Amino acid sequence: MKGIEDLIELVEWVRRLENNVEDAVHSSSEDTVVSRDFEIFFNRFLYFMLQFDLKEYPVNLFHWLKLLKKPLKDWWPAAANLLDEEGISSDFIILDDEIGLSEEAEELLREYKSYQEASAKVVRDVLIHCRDVSLEKGLDMQWSYTKFRLFLIKNPVTNIEAMELYCLENDFDHFLTSSLENCYEDIPPSSAFKCQSCGWTLHEKTKNVFVCIKQQCLRSYDVSSLNHYEITEAEQLRVKESIQFSTVIPGQRELELKRKLVKSGAAIELYPDLERLGDLRVRRAGEKAGSEELLIDVKDYRNAKQLAKKLVTDHAAGLVKTPVIAVPDDKANSRYLKFVNKRLVEMGINSCKVYSFKQVVRMFKELSSDGAQLFEVKENIHVY
Ligand SMILES: [Zn+2]
Repeated sequence: MKGIEDLIELVEWVRRLENNVEDAVHSSSEDTVVSRDFEIFFNRFLYFMLQFDLKEYPVNLFHWLKLLKKPLKDWWPAAANLLDEEGISSDFIILDDEIGLSEEAEELLREYKSYQEASAKVVRDVLIHCRDVSLEKGLDMQWSYTKFRLFLIKNPVTNIEAMELYCLENDFDHFLTSSLENCYEDIPPSSAFKCQSCGWTLHEKTKNVFVCIKQQCLRSYDVSSLNHYEITEAEQLRVKESIQFSTVIPGQRELELKRKLVKSGAAIELYPDLERLGDLRVRRAGEKAGSEELLIDVKDYRNAKQLAKKLVTDHAAGLVKTPVIAVPDDKANSRYLKFVNKRLVEMGINSCKVYSFKQVVRMFKELSSDGAQLFEVKENIHVY
């Protein structure tokens, strides 16, 4: 197995045929367009799979469908091992009986894309634009940049009027205004509901079963629970999928931490120094610039291995910006934190440490109550 790319390619093939796979198989005795397309695909697939050492090699279409519904480790162990290295369960299945392409397979596709992109190009271009303008013209672009990101995070769905008004109110230049428009697309007519967790449109996977693109949001919704989450007439646009993944969902976690810290008496600046200093700059409320501060990056990785890998790579590239890496509480159990921090120590990295949101808030409270210096003391705080 060359790499995870092979598995991704297979999953992409299945996705392309998602709604047709079973139909195509069942109609394959008849000579239909679907079945002919499917045959071409399937022959390519068989050829593709020849390069791997499989426990079970598909002998016909029905057998192949059965394999896709089994845990990967039972028929394609090399791929399962590779996923395991990435921290993904070896019980991974590709095709789900009820919903077609399984949610873990969908998420693998998306996460893989977002690893590749790290952030959507349009948002990255806005960051570069803001840095350029502030360097060349000496303008303070911090406000505009933060406002730009906040609109996306708070408005996974919106309409053109609201967007234009926001651009005017915040005095966005032409580049920011057109970039913000570029982040959105029309909501497809088939979308009727929004996700209760991340706010993006749900798609109907099978009749009356709606799912969010983010597996973690909830496995699925049924219509009865969705009454309050209908898409209204005023909502015509949604952020593009890549932006939902790379900016909106992580941004919602950044704002969650911000809210928690503000409640404990902190003053927060988001994306300080145009992100050069991380996601959040934390000071005691009422204190001015130049006083002690805590710099935090928020990382929302589903599993500890992926986060450890990311931090080690970032560290080698000089990209770790802050000493404190905060992980949302629903992921950061003690095993998760222990694993990442141990790996960092093993790799000789002592310039950053991973904490749960709860620990970060506690750290801020302790430090601000005894008047200690935030910046110096936090280096010595021992967590796990
Ligand atoms: Zn969602």
